[in-house]
Amino acid sequence: MGCGVEGLIKGAVQGVANLHPYLPGKPVDELARELGLDINSIVKLASNENPLGPSEKVVNALQKQIADLTRYPDGNGFELKAALSARFKLSPDQITLGNGSNDVLDLIARAFLQPGKNAVFSQYAFAVYPISTQAVGAELNVVPAKNYAHDLPAMAAAINEQTQVVFLANPNNPTGTMFGREEFVSFMAKVPDRVLVVLDEAYSEYVDADNYPDGLEYLPEYSNLIVTRTFSKAYGLASLRVGYAACAPEIADLLNRVRQPFNVDSFALSAAVAALSDTEYLAKSRALNDSGKSQLKQGLGDLGLSYIPSFGNFIAVDFGQDAGPINQALLAKGVIVRPVANYGMPNFLRVSIGTNEENQCFLTTLQEILA
Ligand SMILES: *Cc1c(COP(=O)(O)O)cnc(C)c1O
Repeated sequence: MGCGVEGLIKGAVQGVANLHPYLPGKPVDELARELGLDINSIVKLASNENPLGPSEKVVNALQKQIADLTRYPDGNGFELKAALSARFKLSPDQITLGNGSNDVLDLIARAFLQPGKNAVFSQYAFAVYPISTQAVGAELNVVPAKNYAHDLPAMAAAINEQTQVVFLANPNNPTGTMFGREEFVSFMAKVPDRVLVVLDEAYSEYVDADNYPDGLEYLPEYSNLIVTRTFSKAYGLASLRVGYAACAPEIADLLNRVRQPFNVDSFALSAAVAALSDTEYLAKSRALNDSGKSQLKQGLGDLGLSYIPSFGNFIAVDFGQDAGPINQALLAKGVIVRPVANYGMPNFLRVSIGTNEENQCFLTTLQEILA
């Protein structure tokens, strides 16, 4: 055991050995075990999860699905694609379903990136972009952010002969920043047709801004645009892992070629159809997020803390000093938030917007710690 592994390791895909694995939010059970606390006393605001709990329609759909447990899922996701097509005026052949939108980002990297090519993305952008890129041996072309936001003109200028893909997150995680229609359109005008633009809209349902560029509306205009969305956030299905990409049918065809045949399971498929039909749940998600965001902004302001204005369901709080000890103190009191030192933001903690009660608990605990 262990003999000769070094040679084997050297043969791994270039870039895999030095990629930084994704750091997930700490699970509630884990902290409960460590602290010997009751699970119910812990507040987790670390993974941008929906605090509403599941939609009743989803729960019913899942219960029905149990009868088909022994069957393989529909590998083409016919019903979900039909529901998405109807809702967003897409054709089913424009859609690629993924095991979370993470999976779709991986499919894009596998279909389009390779050694010698690079992917452009912003400093402080979502951590999955470098992982998917390095996993296939392609290079990272990271562009400095401007006020923590994507600097789109600089990103357009960074595109070179070897660039195959540009990843844009709008709003971005973990910063919560957003770019508007004009910025997006003038960016797209500078991108060569041979370069794919991935517009990651994981938080689009939360955005309340007139100048938000809804990526799906731009698909007819830009053949090199891929829009990715997820059921993990506003639709409340993070545990089931389901997301999708919408793009030109020819590109979707390539993505579907590298996709695992049954990448989205039956439970996720039927839950997503149910979630899409539950417009009331979506409206409640948005309303709860809006009121929670106001509550947190007010509370953070009262504590004299600044934060990056956010268009998502989370806020990056600036402590003006290493936030590591504050994170530790919060954990010791049963509050889990997300350190973002791995994003190069050691002075920040990212707080997901929870229920009003959870937000209050976070604010009160933070006040005790800072006192
Ligand atoms: C949460 C998130 C996703 C979606 O993740 P899933 O795999 O769909 O759960 C994608 N992009 C960004 C920027 C995110 O924050």
